[in-house]
Amino acid sequence: MNSYDKHYYDGAWQSSTGSETLAIISSATEAEVARVPRGTAQDVVAAARAARRGDGRGGRVGVEDRAQWHEKLAAALKQRAPQIAEAISHEVGTAPGFATKVQVEFPISMIAMNATFIREAKLQEELGNSIIFKDPVGVVGCITPWNYPLHQIVCKIAPALAAGCTVVLKPAELAPMSAFFIAEAAQEIGLPKGVFNVVSGSGKVVGEAIVAHPDVDMVSFTGSLQAGRRIASVAGDGIKKVGLELGGKSAFVVLDDAPFEKAIPAGVNHCMQNSGQTCSAWTRMLVPRARHDEAVELAKAQLAKLTLGDPFEKTTRLGPLVSAAQRDSVLGYIEKGKQEGATVVAGGGKPANLSNGFYVEPTIFANVSNKMTVAQEEIFGPVLSIIPYDSEDDAVAIANDSPYGLSGGVWAGSEERALGVARQLRTGQVDINGGRFNALAPFGGYKKSGIGREIGPLALEGFFQLKSIQP
Ligand code: NAD
Repeated sequence: MNSYDKHYYDGAWQSSTGSETLAIISSATEAEVARVPRGTAQDVVAAARAARRGDGRGGRVGVEDRAQWHEKLAAALKQRAPQIAEAISHEVGTAPGFATKVQVEFPISMIAMNATFIREAKLQEELGNSIIFKDPVGVVGCITPWNYPLHQIVCKIAPALAAGCTVVLKPAELAPMSAFFIAEAAQEIGLPKGVFNVVSGSGKVVGEAIVAHPDVDMVSFTGSLQAGRRIASVAGDGIKKVGLELGGKSAFVVLDDAPFEKAIPAGVNHCMQNSGQTCSAWTRMLVPRARHDEAVELAKAQLAKLTLGDPFEKTTRLGPLVSAAQRDSVLGYIEKGKQEGATVVAGGGKPANLSNGFYVEPTIFANVSNKMTVAQEEIFGPVLSIIPYDSEDDAVAIANDSPYGLSGGVWAGSEERALGVARQLRTGQVDINGGRFNALAPFGGYKKSGIGREIGPLALEGFFQLKSIQP
């Protein structure tokens, strides 16, 4: 895999003012596979200035030109799709089919979709004696996590650039390669100078410098609640607009008249995707108390089908976790679950047959109480908690008894009943009776899962500011 020794800003590859680098470690072998620069606050100053100048140049180009950037960028990234998938499998541990389809092909298609969104957007309208214009916010600082590295970047930069903003991006330390592939593609398609800028490095140094820089008008962040709090307060100090996509502890409510043989496997798959390193994963499965044991047996049978192994093997469904720290954190939660009295019915530790790599056995806890730590805190690993409930109202109360509200699922005997429960969940997305993910629907959280929405045409709204002119 290629290393990168420069950041990308002002339309060119730029040496860092520091000399340190970040190592990219393969999560399956624990070997170093590449390096990127560990940037400095001075690098951010130069990149933010470039973005400000770009705001005057590229940011004011017409809608059609911006739409064409997206089409060209998507085509240039398509050429690099196998290398991006390989990088993500090394970085995150994502299994091959999922890496290609979900981690790479889907976000590339979202870039192209933004061409249509901006062409169809209504950027001015008359209201009384005013004309209301939707103007770009300006320079957007984008800070992203490691779990879906390309996707999380695209969720921000595609609508930001479509809206006419320029960006300074800091990718995650553990999975920065996608940002560099995008920089190569941006240069190849001739994106104007300063429109797309990347500085890699730590959250504390590069991330905070982006959030605090006076030339950055808005911060769009995806990551943990803890970092989101800090970012919101630094951005608040500068009276900056913020978009926050934070954690989740989503519930899947299986009602007593649901087809369990379909619903339970779907719930297990949802929880375990990307080895549980998914913000929207349904990590709490709520089942009627009378059918708890039946649900446990079906869940165990489904889990047995999800082969854990090397992310470069075709048969692998679940790869390792992203890092040693993440593995140890997940194992710590599993121990906590055992201590608090949850019953391990599958997995529960490190796999005996995989000595290298950051592997954790996919784990199911049964008879979990929603008060337990494993039901309240985001574990971000392959751990499912099965929680019994006593009535439909009880199920809704348990689902809503969470600091988070990002996603969720409901499966019932009829769409009407599922919809009735879904409407009561305080969460940003709910799939009912096996409903599929929709790339047009807004995505984001209630409560401590965040502020704002990403994905689809409505995501553009986050990157506009309104101007009223009275003729
Ligand atoms: P993290 O918060 O540790 O890091 C995310 C990014 O923020 C990284 O680039 C990091 O360097 C940077 N950062 C950290 N502290 C910072 C600071 N003080 N100032 C500026 N930047 C800072 O999160 P992570 O471990 O990379 O990702 C996992 C988390 O992301 C989970 O909580 C998960 O639920 C969440 N997530 C949410 C969504 C969503 O759409 N809601 C999607 C994916 C991941």
